[in-house]
Amino acid sequence: MTTSVPAHTETPDNHRKGYVYIIGAGPGDPELLTLKGERVLCEADVILYDDLVSSELIERFSALKIYTGKRKDSHHFEQDEINAEIVRHALQGKKVARLKGGDPFVFGRGGEEIEVLRNNGIGYEIIPGITAAHGASAYTEIPLTMRKISSSVAFCTGHPINKIQVPDADTLVYYMVASSVHDVLDAVVNKGWQDDTKVAIVQNATRYNQKIFTGTLGELRKREKAVYSPALLILGANINQFIENNWYSKKKKVLITGDNEMMYNSEEYITVPFPCHQVEGADQNLVNQCFRTIKEYSVLLFQNKLSVTYFFKYLHEYGKDVRYLGKNKIYTLSHTALSELLKYGVIADLYLENGCSEKITSILQEKGVENENILLPGSNINNEYLVDGLMSLNNKVTPLSVYYQRAKEQGKTIDLDFIDEIYFSSPACVRNFKSCYTKIPEKIMVTTPSKTTDAEYRKLFL
Ligand code: SAH
Repeated sequence: MTTSVPAHTETPDNHRKGYVYIIGAGPGDPELLTLKGERVLCEADVILYDDLVSSELIERFSALKIYTGKRKDSHHFEQDEINAEIVRHALQGKKVARLKGGDPFVFGRGGEEIEVLRNNGIGYEIIPGITAAHGASAYTEIPLTMRKISSSVAFCTGHPINKIQVPDADTLVYYMVASSVHDVLDAVVNKGWQDDTKVAIVQNATRYNQKIFTGTLGELRKREKAVYSPALLILGANINQFIENNWYSKKKKVLITGDNEMMYNSEEYITVPFPCHQVEGADQNLVNQCFRTIKEYSVLLFQNKLSVTYFFKYLHEYGKDVRYLGKNKIYTLSHTALSELLKYGVIADLYLENGCSEKITSILQEKGVENENILLPGSNINNEYLVDGLMSLNNKVTPLSVYYQRAKEQGKTIDLDFIDEIYFSSPACVRNFKSCYTKIPEKIMVTTPSKTTDAEYRKLFL
């Protein structure tokens, strides 16, 4: 058997020195990450990430996360400090993921970082990412090359202003232009490009707030427009009339404040997560106490997916699996709970397909849920309609908190101007949302799953 050692490995004790992966995170849409990047990020001990990496992407991973960007409210990292931080973690023997927006080798300083790793004899590899130009091109329908029209493309930078170059290519893509659009346009004109050349500025490409400005070179030079970072400037004959009405702009952007409802899992929508509460496991001792006497209950009623996930997590930690529930009937109220149960090998005995709180009593009655001794795994917030409904039908009900739900401190704000619909999954989500936004613009459609959530929305926002 042979063992392969990366070509750049310089010292035999490399493994003790840890290993660094320089990974491209893609331009914004959190799904635009390579499979290899995803696997390494799942395995990493520490992730050092930059400004342009989307928070949705980073939240998926459980490693220690260190922000190395330049946000106003946190420490401003200089490149030397970032290099030192990467080396420090690697020398502790960790698997380090250095996560950068787009591709690490396109205006990404990836080259400087590997030089430092080489000098320190630390093993590394590079995982490419989708650069902003490719993201913007795909999400605005601007081909970067096109047969007979454009046979070359150049990636350039608009910063610093005295370094602006205009290479001889059919399509030009300028990075870092937020404060230098006019300087770039002037440089291009000075190089002989015609006033009628088509130009597009793409802000926040591949993100829910993607915005495009288009015009001719002559028009845009006359117009003063505020351009916000991150933005790209694209010039060339491939910019066509479709781009303002591109496939991405046609999707409905839905802000999801709680659990993602399956109804939004279609090509019609882009879901923008804005979780208004955070979830953590409940007190395990209390849950274990309940497991000891679980055989006394005739029914376990799971209200949602999380109640299933946490219940089985604790059951496994208690040293038992699904066979321990041999005598309990298992009921559920939600579609997502139903599929979550299947993961643990459970086919629910009863699915109360309409989870709508107000109708719950009649549904329970119709399905004959009466005179049972019911354990109700869920969160610390009780669904009063459900408990009252069950009790009115002579059921004995014991709520069990398997997870806690608390209001979430919001690290980011969403620009509601780009949102078409908001989905509030519970009254608590409405209340938490109100603490971030006092008003909801009229053009936004609001959707709720129940009358109680709707009533809370009306009370607080209308
Ligand atoms: N390595 C990155 C580029 C980093 S330089 C990559 O390969 O994409 C930062 C510049 O990238 C920004 O100023 C902007 O010009 C561009 N950029 C990054 N993400 C972008 C996005 N989502 N939309 C538009 N421009 C973006």
